[in-house]
Amino acid sequence: MPEKKELTKEQEKNIIKLYLVDDLSFKKIKKETGFSENISTRILKTNNVYVFRENFKSFEDYKILKKEKYDLYIKGELNETTRFDSSKTYIAVCKKTGEVFDDYLNKNGYLTKYIQNILNIKDIPDSKLKRKDIEFKTGKFWYEEYFNIIEIKKKEIVKCRYCDWKTTDLVNRSGCITVHIDNIHNVKWYDHIKKFPEDCILFDKTKI
Ligand SMILES: [Zn+2]
Repeated sequence: MPEKKELTKEQEKNIIKLYLVDDLSFKKIKKETGFSENISTRILKTNNVYVFRENFKSFEDYKILKKEKYDLYIKGELNETTRFDSSKTYIAVCKKTGEVFDDYLNKNGYLTKYIQNILNIKDIPDSKLKRKDIEFKTGKFWYEEYFNIIEIKKKEIVKCRYCDWKTTDLVNRSGCITVHIDNIHNVKWYDHIKKFPEDCILFDKTKI
């Protein structure tokens, strides 16, 4: 019966240590802690310490990276900048455009593409090593130069009526909703509020 369990910080820390330092399998971690592989994996991924074994040719390299990850994790602890709590929701917000992304860990690489293609910044750290180095020195992801990662409550977001696009600009102050529905869905705001009258608060009617 898999459930979404909420773990304490201590429990999370223990799983991370067993995985990174003691190099235990998920089976053994379960035996030690009682938490299933699914839960452990979720904790590791949320804390950005999950390591793909298949990315490493040698077992030694794999172990070294795990050790480095642990140092980084602990360093975050010591600086009191423990980043992300698995029971909370975070988003990445572009510092320049205000555009919002769910994938704040940049797992899909969307943030990288956005930095290159939309912000038009070509000079970005291009290797895993350079990125990890920035992470290690600053305690932040390299892409946080362009994005703020913020914790949100679900209702602090406005979701597009037509697609999955979201914004934290609840009152459409920047006009990003107007621009989005026009550009992406070819819907003018005055047509939009005919369909969704409750959205009229989002649009400044003096701009007709
Ligand atoms: Zn949309």
